[in-house]
Amino acid sequence: MSATVIDGAAIAAAIRREVKAAVDALQREHGITPGLATVLVGNDPASATYVRNKRKACAEVGIASFGYELPTDTPPQKLLALLDELACRSEVHGILVQLPLPSHLDEGQVLGRVPPEKDVDGFHPSNLGVLGIRGREPRFAPCTPAGCIALLERSAIPIAGRHAVVLGRSKIVGLPLALMLLARDATVTICHSRTTDLASLTRQADILVAAIGKARFVTRDMVRPGAVVIDVGINRIEDARDPRGYRLVGDVDFEEVRTVASAITPVPGGVGPMTIAMLLWNTLRAAECSVPK
Ligand code: NDP
Repeated sequence: MSATVIDGAAIAAAIRREVKAAVDALQREHGITPGLATVLVGNDPASATYVRNKRKACAEVGIASFGYELPTDTPPQKLLALLDELACRSEVHGILVQLPLPSHLDEGQVLGRVPPEKDVDGFHPSNLGVLGIRGREPRFAPCTPAGCIALLERSAIPIAGRHAVVLGRSKIVGLPLALMLLARDATVTICHSRTTDLASLTRQADILVAAIGKARFVTRDMVRPGAVVIDVGINRIEDARDPRGYRLVGDVDFEEVRTVASAITPVPGGVGPMTIAMLLWNTLRAAECSVPK
């Protein structure tokens, strides 16, 4: 068997086009331009690149972005005061605090200060808390898990009644994704670093999601023939043939696993492009919710 390769870049491009059309309509009909504030603390180059890419993507679909860059030693009160100010600004519909934060800042306190109605990353406890509750539509779902669900749904892969095995329980990927699968009536197993006999669980999966940050960890023998495999991992491995000296691979051994799976996401070009597309989607949704009823 050779798996269907799920084209995340194409699906993300389609979502961006839909967002752009809806942004144009919001401006035309209500005079509202969706706005995203990005808050970057410190000078981590990878974080700066992520924020730059998010702001560029906003510009491409007509979302205004407002960038705030604070020094590494920013006192907690100063960051919290900025979030309070952004919470009050009507042209800011979404607030994104780029993670990770410098270690002296309490991530829980900071993310909890973003008002839930502007929490386009979906990390506020009150947004995370409703993810797994059937019949409760969350205001915003975290972008990477929402991207995984969109990949499945737009590839017409059924979720209800299937056994989904999620590797990883982080609060930004594994845990919210497991809750979202549960809310869609999958039977869900969550695995983590203390799980014993992992392969016996992964082999039971109809839908296997890998979000652990370990290069090519999931091998062919861990996958049930015909399973759908979603690879969230982004890992650098050395590659002397690449001008950068490295290349990106996922948590799944793509070449091996594609011979046994029925569908699989590649890295790059699978889940990765979906994250920013879902951020744009959430920001649009935040702006739409601000339309007076
Ligand atoms: P974290 O490091 O926060 O979490 C990793 C999770 O994997 C933890 O729950 C950990 O278990 C579990 N884990 C680690 N080793 C094993 C193992 N050997 N067996 C089973 N479980 C294990 O990572 P993130 O969730 O933030 O990210 C995961 C991957 O996804 C990374 O490669 C990251 O780069 C990528 N990513 C990709 C995004 C995208 O846009 N495509 C966005 C965000 C992340 P425990 O809880 O016990 O420690």
